[in-house]
Amino acid sequence: MKAILPGQTLGIVGGGQLGRMFALSARRMGYRVHVLDPVSDGPTGQLADVEICASYDDLDAARRFARAVDVVTFEFENIPAETLRVIAEDRPVRPSPEVLHICRHRLREKDFLRQHGFPVTPYRAVTNPVELARALAELGTPSILKTADFGYDGKGQARLDAAQDLPRVWSELGRPQGVVEAFVPFTKEISVICARAVGGNMACFGPAENVHVRHILDVTTVPADVPEPVARNAIDLAFSITEALDVIGLLAVEMFVIGEGILVNELAPRPHNSGHYTIDACMTSQFEQQLRAVCGLPLGSVELLRPAAMANLLGDIWQQGEPNWAAALAVADVKLHLYGKREPRPGRKMGHLTALADSPEQARAKVLAARAALVPNMASRAP
Ligand code: AMP
Repeated sequence: MKAILPGQTLGIVGGGQLGRMFALSARRMGYRVHVLDPVSDGPTGQLADVEICASYDDLDAARRFARAVDVVTFEFENIPAETLRVIAEDRPVRPSPEVLHICRHRLREKDFLRQHGFPVTPYRAVTNPVELARALAELGTPSILKTADFGYDGKGQARLDAAQDLPRVWSELGRPQGVVEAFVPFTKEISVICARAVGGNMACFGPAENVHVRHILDVTTVPADVPEPVARNAIDLAFSITEALDVIGLLAVEMFVIGEGILVNELAPRPHNSGHYTIDACMTSQFEQQLRAVCGLPLGSVELLRPAAMANLLGDIWQQGEPNWAAALAVADVKLHLYGKREPRPGRKMGHLTALADSPEQARAKVLAARAALVPNMASRAP
C-alpha cells in the first residue's frame, strides 16, 4: 500500500473541533482537506479546501466525498454503517468501519474488552425497567445508567441511588438499550492516546490526568501524577487494546485508577479532548499523529517537551459577554485555541487553553489562572 503524501487529499467525516485541528495539521504539511458534515461553515469547514454539506445518511453525497479524496478518517463516531460501507467501497477508511462499529456502541465496546480479557467496570445490558431493577440488585448502588449509543460528554447518563422510580428513569433515558455500570470510587482518571501505523508500529501519548466536571472534561494535566507501575500498566493496556482492535489511526483509552489498579472506562478511535495539550507540548501533536497513521507514514515522536495543562472553555463563560482574551493571554506561556463556533451554548466546547511550565502543578495553576482571568467574577470550574 503506497503512502499518501503531501499534495494529496484527506477526507474527514465530521466537522467539529477535532476535524478542525486535524485540518490545521494537514494543511501545515501541504495536504488538501475535504470534510463531510451536515452543518455548513463549521469548525472544520472553515479550514477545509472543500466542505460537503450533507446529512450523514445521504449516500450520494458520501460517494461524491469519497471519490474526491485519497483516504478517509473521521472525528465523530455516530456515522451510519451504510455510509461508511459506501465510502469504504471507494477509498480506504482508517480506522476501519469495524473499529467504529465496536467503539460507537458502549455495550459492544465493553463486550469486546471483556471478551479479550481487559479490565472493565462491572456492567449489565438493560432494555427495560425490570432488567434495570435486576442490574441494580446485582451491581448495587450507586450505579450509573448510560445509553448504549449516542451518548457523549455525559449526555444520556443518570446516576442511580437506592429507591428510585426506575420506570421513570428508564423512560427519561429515551433509548431502546442501556448499560448499567457499578459506580467506581476512582482515585484518578487518566487517558492514554495510542497511535498505530499501517505496518503495525505503535506509539503512545500519556498517561494524562483528567478532571471531569458534570461528566465533561474540565482540565488535563501531564504527566499524570500516578505511580510508575500504574503508568506502565496504562500504556501496556492501551497498546494491547489498540492491537486487539486492529486500529490504524488513533485510539484514546480513558481509564479509572483505583489505588494501584486500572479499569478501562471508554474507548474513542480518534483524537481526544484529553490530547489537545499535545499541540503545544509534544514533538508531534495527536492530530499530526493521526495524519501520519492514516496516510501510511512513519509515526512521529511522542516526546513531551514540557509539563503542560489544558483547560476547556465551555459556552458558559460567554454568559456575561465576550471573555477577556487579553487578560488570559497576559499569563505567561499560555496558548489560546478557539474552534470558530458562533453560538456559545452552556456546556458546549468552544475552545481550550494550554499552559506549559516546569512542573505539572505549575502548568495547572497557570492554566486555571488564565481561565479565571477570562471572566473575572465567575468561579473556576475545577473543583
Ligand atoms: P463517560 O461518558 O462514560 O466517559 O463518563 C463521563 C464521566 O463520568 C467519567 O469520565 C467519570 O468522571 C464519570 N463516570 C462515568 N462512569 C462512571 C462510573 N462507572 N463510576 C464513576 N464515575 C463514572
